[in-house]
Amino acid sequence: MTVWLLGDQLNPNAAPLQHDDHVLMIEAHGFAERMPYHPQKLTLVFSAMRHARDSLREAGYEVTYVEAESFGEGLDRYFEANQGDALVLQRPASHGAGERLRDMVVDRGGHCTLVDNDGFLTSHEDWDEWVDSRGGSTAGDGGDGTYRQEHWYRHVRRETGVLMDGDDPAGGEWNYDDANRETPPDDWSPPRIPEFEPDAITREVHEFVTDRYDDHWGGADLADFAWPVTREQALHALEQFVEVRLPEFGPYQDAMVEGEWALSHSLLSPAINLGLLRPREVVDAVVDAYRDPDADAPINAVEGFVRQVIGWREFMRHVYRESMPGMDEANQLDQTRDLPEAYWTGETEMTCLSEAVKHVRDRGYAHHIERLMVLSNFALIYGADPHELNRWFHLGFVDAFHWVTTPNVVGMGTFATDAVSSKPYASSANYVNRMSDYCSSCPYYHTKTTGEGSCPFNALYWDFLKDNEAILRGTGRMGLMYSHVDDKDDEEWAAIQERAAEIREMGDDGTL
Ligand SMILES: Cc1cc2nc3c(=O)[nH]c(=O)nc-3n(C[C@H](O)[C@H](O)[C@H](O)COP(=O)(O)OP(=O)(O)OC[C@H]3O[C@@H](n4cnc5c(N)ncnc54)[C@H](O)[C@@H]3O)c2cc1C
Ligand code: SF4
Repeated sequence: MTVWLLGDQLNPNAAPLQHDDHVLMIEAHGFAERMPYHPQKLTLVFSAMRHARDSLREAGYEVTYVEAESFGEGLDRYFEANQGDALVLQRPASHGAGERLRDMVVDRGGHCTLVDNDGFLTSHEDWDEWVDSRGGSTAGDGGDGTYRQEHWYRHVRRETGVLMDGDDPAGGEWNYDDANRETPPDDWSPPRIPEFEPDAITREVHEFVTDRYDDHWGGADLADFAWPVTREQALHALEQFVEVRLPEFGPYQDAMVEGEWALSHSLLSPAINLGLLRPREVVDAVVDAYRDPDADAPINAVEGFVRQVIGWREFMRHVYRESMPGMDEANQLDQTRDLPEAYWTGETEMTCLSEAVKHVRDRGYAHHIERLMVLSNFALIYGADPHELNRWFHLGFVDAFHWVTTPNVVGMGTFATDAVSSKPYASSANYVNRMSDYCSSCPYYHTKTTGEGSCPFNALYWDFLKDNEAILRGTGRMGLMYSHVDDKDDEEWAAIQERAAEIREMGDDGTL
C-alpha cells in the first residue's frame, strides 16, 4: 500500500505512515488559477509539502513527489508507473473531496481506501454520540438542527479529561471569558513573534509562485512571510507561544491595536491546518504549562486557548460536515451586494477596515476579532453576499480551507445560516471603539450615527436590523436590540436609511 498524503496532511506521525513506507504526494498547480490566491498562501502550502517530502525521505520513506497541473494528471503519471497500486488516503476535511479523489484513483485502475483524518482531536463517532446524548441529530442544542459550541466544548473536555481536575474544570470554572476582554494600556507592546528565515526551498517556491501566478491578490514580499514550513519550525512556534505569548493571549485575545497585526495570538492556525501540528499536542503543551508551577500560564489564558482549539475548531469542523452540502449556498438573509471595493484595494478612510485589510494583504492573516468584528461584521451589515466574502477569505488567508472558512464566514460571520450561532455577530461602532484604539485616529465619528462624518458602522447596523427584522426579531437574544429599534421615530429612520444608502454607494465606488 502507498500512503497518499495531501498538502494539508503533513504530520509525520499520521497513522497510515506507521504502517506503510511508500508515499505519494502530488503538488497540483492548476487549482491556484481558479482564484487570485494570496502568494504567501501558495508559498506556504507548496514549501511545506516539499519540506515534508524531504523529511520523510530522510526518515527512510520512499516518496514519489509529482508536480502536475491537476490531481488527475498527477494520478495519470503515477499509475502509468505503478499500475493497479493501492492507495490509502486520510479522508480530506472538505466536503466530498474523499469520494472524488477515490473515484479518480479507481478510474485509473488503482484502489483507494479512505481512513480517518487524524488532523482532528475528535471523530465523527464522538460527535454523533454527543448529538445523540442531546436528543438526536435533528434536535441539536437549539432543538431545530442547530448546534451550540459551549455544550460541545464542555462535553469534549469531560470526555478527554483536558484541563479537568477529576469531574470538575481546572480552576473551578468552565469559562473565563470575563477575564479575557481587556485592552492593553497605551504603552504596551506585544511580545515578539517567532521568526523563520526562508530557506532555499521556500525561496525557490516563492519565485515559482510569483512568476506563475501573476494575477494574485495580496503582498508577495518574502520579508513578511511569517509562517513555519516544517514540523520542527512549527514545534518551535508552539514552544515560543507557550513560553512567551500565552500569558497575554488571555486578557488581550479580543483586543485590536493600531499598527499591530499579531498581538499575543498564537499564529498557529496555518501549522495546525497543514497538519504540521496536531491539535491535541497544541492543547497538551498549553495545559502542561498550566500544571507547571514554574511556568507563567494563568488559567484564563489557558482555558481561553483550549476553548479555541477543542471547542471552536472541532465544533466548526463537525458543523460543516453536518451542514454540507447546503452551507456553501446558504443565504438566509438574502444578501447579494458586492463586497465594498476596500476589501480588494485596502483603500478606505475607515481606520478599522483599513488596518484589518492591510493585515490580510501583507501576511494573509488577521486575528480572530478583526475577522469577526471588523471584516465579516462590516460585510454583514453592509449587505454583502456571504459567498463572495467566503471566497475573499478563502483566497486571502494563509489558514483558509473550505472546511474551516465556510462555517466561520457563512455561519459565524454572516449568519447566512443559523447552524453555528443563534444570532448574528452584528455590531455598531461601539464594539470596535470598546476593544480597540482605532476610533481615536479615524476621521469618522464613532459617536455619530447619521450625517456627515458619522461612522459607517452605525447607520448600517440599524438599517441592517430594520431590514432583517422578520428573521432576526424572533431569534434568541435579540430582544434588547429590537427594543432600541422600537425606540426610534420615523425621522431617525429616514436619516439612518439615507446615510446607509450613502455608505453603500461609497462602498461601491471605493470612496469609503
Ligand atoms: C470570518 C472568519 C473567518 C475565519 N477563517 C478561518 C480560516 O480560514 N481558517 C482558520 O483556521 N480559522 C479561521 N477562523 C477562525 C479563527 O479566527 C482563526 O483560527 C484564528 O484567528 C487563527 O489565528 P491564531 O492561530 O493566531 O489563533 P488563536 O487566536 O491563537 O487561537 C488558537 C487556535 O484556535 C483555533 N480556532 C480558534 N477559533 C476558531 C474557529 N472559529 N474555527 C476554527 N479554528 C479556530 C485555531 O486553530 C487557532 O490557531 C475564522 C474566523 C472568522 C470569524
Ligand atoms: S469610527 Fe467607525 S470606521 Fe472609524 S475606526 Fe471606529 S468603528 Fe471603524
